[in-house]
Amino acid sequence: TKSVVTIGEVLVEIMADTRGDGFREPLSLRGPFPSGAPAIFIDQVARLGQKAGLISCVGNDDFGWLNIERLRADGVDTSAIRVHPDQVTGSAFVRYRESGERDFVFNIKNSACGQTRITEEGQLLLAQCAHLHIMGSSLFSFRLIDEAKKAIEQVKAQGGTISFDPNVRKEMLNIPEMRAALEMMLQYCDLFMPSGPELMLLTEATTEEHAITEILGLGVSGIVVKRGSEGASWHDGTQNLFVPAFKVAEIDPTGAGDCFGATFVTCRLQGRSIADSLRYANASGALAVGQRGPMEGTSDFVALDALIAGDAA
Ligand code: ATP
Repeated sequence: TKSVVTIGEVLVEIMADTRGDGFREPLSLRGPFPSGAPAIFIDQVARLGQKAGLISCVGNDDFGWLNIERLRADGVDTSAIRVHPDQVTGSAFVRYRESGERDFVFNIKNSACGQTRITEEGQLLLAQCAHLHIMGSSLFSFRLIDEAKKAIEQVKAQGGTISFDPNVRKEMLNIPEMRAALEMMLQYCDLFMPSGPELMLLTEATTEEHAITEILGLGVSGIVVKRGSEGASWHDGTQNLFVPAFKVAEIDPTGAGDCFGATFVTCRLQGRSIADSLRYANASGALAVGQRGPMEGTSDFVALDALIAGDAA
């Protein structure tokens, strides 16, 4: 079967139990939960029975091993995750405000994932890779951008495809190398998977229609726009297809976009149509928002089919 690979950060998420503004008071916390957008993405790919591998780096600590053991248990090839002897695994503290917005305290930039390198094991993974997924959140240093570029070039050279989810958070846009890297990714990717606001962020366009035309003009062959509780749409220059979301209670949206993307990519690799893939991806996003914890909302085809069948009934 075709294998999917991604490269990027692995971390733990620790969340406040109560809603409110930030962390400037003692709080009751929950976690650590395995996290990191690429980690959630690749876990979801493996849950769907697709061959999946992650290139990353963690510290030799409980936060790192928690992630490796979980990914391994879910079927992800973890051989290309370096365990760094003197770095710590990254962490993100998250608290929801009453409005549903999230406040974060990140310790990622200076954590072990900054030491991600394509090791020999990583080379082996890439040699068998049919599809490589890159996330904007992973491109926070020149070294990481460089490793991502090397991976992209190898996978493209062997006829594989590339998807890109800009996955930018406002806390990260002030990193100078980030914007250039995001623009570079638009030149490289076959499939672009932004959220609605991210679509507008990366071009000079003032309407969605113009942004889509501009990005397709760069050589991207398809765009999937994630539209939260509304659903998602596909654009390839000839076809615009909107598929509505499933109606679910939103408990914790973290990870929804990653699960959505993983399910779309996997369904397409498995030969499903764009419309079917969007339906499955919406189902995957819906199940993710219904679970507390970033990676706790990944799902298999049994769960996705059950949600889809229930909706049709
Ligand atoms: P994040 O970065 O928080 O993981 P994102 O901004 O990349 O997410 P969203 O558009 O928020 O992506 O969510 C991805 C997909 O998940 C949506 O396209 C939709 O299918 C599903 N989804 C998200 N929120 C809801 C919701 N409240 N109800 C139903 N489905 C949802």
